[in-house]
Amino acid sequence: MPQPDILVTAPLPPFLYEPLKADYRCHDHYQASHKPGLLAAEGARIRGLVQGGGTVTPTPLLDALPRLEIISVFGVGYDGVPVQYCKDRGIKVTNTPDVLTDDVADVAVGLILMTGRGFVRLNRFLQAGEWPKKSPELTTKLSGRKVGILGLGRIGKAIASRVSALGMQVSYTGRSRQDVPYRYFPDLHALAADCDFLVVASPGGAATRNMVDAGVLQALGKKGTLINIARGSVVDEPALVAALQAGTIKAAGLDVFVDEPNVPAELLAMDNVVLLPHVGSATHETRKAMGDLCKANLDAWFGTGRVLTLIPELA
Ligand code: NAP
Repeated sequence: MPQPDILVTAPLPPFLYEPLKADYRCHDHYQASHKPGLLAAEGARIRGLVQGGGTVTPTPLLDALPRLEIISVFGVGYDGVPVQYCKDRGIKVTNTPDVLTDDVADVAVGLILMTGRGFVRLNRFLQAGEWPKKSPELTTKLSGRKVGILGLGRIGKAIASRVSALGMQVSYTGRSRQDVPYRYFPDLHALAADCDFLVVASPGGAATRNMVDAGVLQALGKKGTLINIARGSVVDEPALVAALQAGTIKAAGLDVFVDEPNVPAELLAMDNVVLLPHVGSATHETRKAMGDLCKANLDAWFGTGRVLTLIPELA
C-alpha cells in the first residue's frame, strides 16, 4: 500500500512529526517557500491534513485538496476549521480532547492564584530588592470567593473541582444546564455580576466571538478578575484593555490573546494583569499524548476507516 499523502499546515514537534514522516508522505505547507507551487504539484494527492489548534484553515486551501478525507487537529480547539464546509464535503475532523484537560485546568488555577494572591507582582517586588525597604502588600483570601465558569466542559469541570478543593464556590453558564452540583446562570451577565473570578473555558469561533464584552466586564465590576484559558476571540480585547485601564474590573489573568503571539502593549504595561504565552497544554507529557492521539486518528482512519475522536458536529 502506498503511504497516504499528508499536508502539514502548522509547526509540529519532532515527537509528532518524525512518526508521521515514518508512516506518511508528509508535505510541509507551513514551511513551504512557494505554497501555491506545492499545492499545484501535490494537492490532488493529499488525503490527510494535520494542523494545530490555533491554525486557521481557509476554504480555498481545502478547495485545492480534492481528495482530502481527514483533518487531524493537534489540539482540542478546532475553531480554525471550517466545520460546515468539511461536513458538506464529508471530510472527517478529529481533535485531541481529554489528554490536555488537567494541564489547562492547572493553568487556570495558577492564574487565579497569581492574580488573586498577587504572586507575580510580589515576585517582582522581592527580586527588585524592595522587601528590606517595605512590607509586601496584602492580597485577597481565595477560600470562600466565587468562581464563575463560562463553558463547563471537560476543562471547565476540571477547573471547578480544583477551585472547589481550594474552598471556592463554583457557578457556571453555558447553552444548557447540566447535572452538576454547581449553580447555573442562564445569563453570562448575571454570572459575571455574581462572581469574583470569571473564568472563560468555552470554545472559540463565531458562536462565542466577543461574548465577554464591555457589558459583561461592567457586570464583573471592581471586585472581579477575568481569567481566560480558552481563546482570545471569546473576549473583546479592546474592551478588556479599556476596563482594566478605567478600573472597571480589578485584574486579569490571560493565557490566550486575539492576535497571538502579539499582545496589546497596554496589557504588557499593566501591573494588575498576569500574562502567559498560551501554555495551557505545554508540558512534555501532555504534548506527547496530544501528538500520539493526533497521529492515532490518522492511523485509525487510513487503517480501518474509523477515527478515535471525531468532533461532535460531525458525529
Ligand atoms: P468542551 O468539553 O467541548 O467544553 C466546552 C464547553 O463550552 C461546553 O461545556 C459547552 O457547554 C460550552 N459552550 C460551547 N459553546 C458555547 C456557547 N456558544 N456559549 C456558551 N458556552 C458554550 O471543550 P474543552 O475540552 O473543555 O475545551 C474548551 C476550550 O478550551 C477549547 O475549545 C479550546 O479552545 C480551549 N483550550 C485552550 C488551551 C490553552 O492552551 N489555553 C488548551 C486546550 C483547550 P454547553 O454545550 O452547555 O454550551
